[in-house]
Amino acid sequence: MELDQSAVGRVSRMDALMNQGIAEASDRRAVTDLRDAIDALARIEDRTYGFCTGCREPIPVARLEAMPETRHCAHCG
Ligand SMILES: [Zn+2]
Repeated sequence: MELDQSAVGRVSRMDALMNQGIAEASDRRAVTDLRDAIDALARIEDRTYGFCTGCREPIPVARLEAMPETRHCAHCG
């Protein structure tokens, strides 16, 4: 269940991102981050998180760690 454990780590990071977004809700970029984080959490729940929405290939872990909220691989993003 290695993948599930790393997903839990990402959820924790996105939780922090959401708290930051709430604290900075007047900042347009923070609101966008907040929406992305909520969207990413929904994708974790329906098991589509970590896959590119463009080409449907798995997104490399290094990219997910740099941009946990991304929904595209480097080619499609
Ligand atoms: Zn792609």
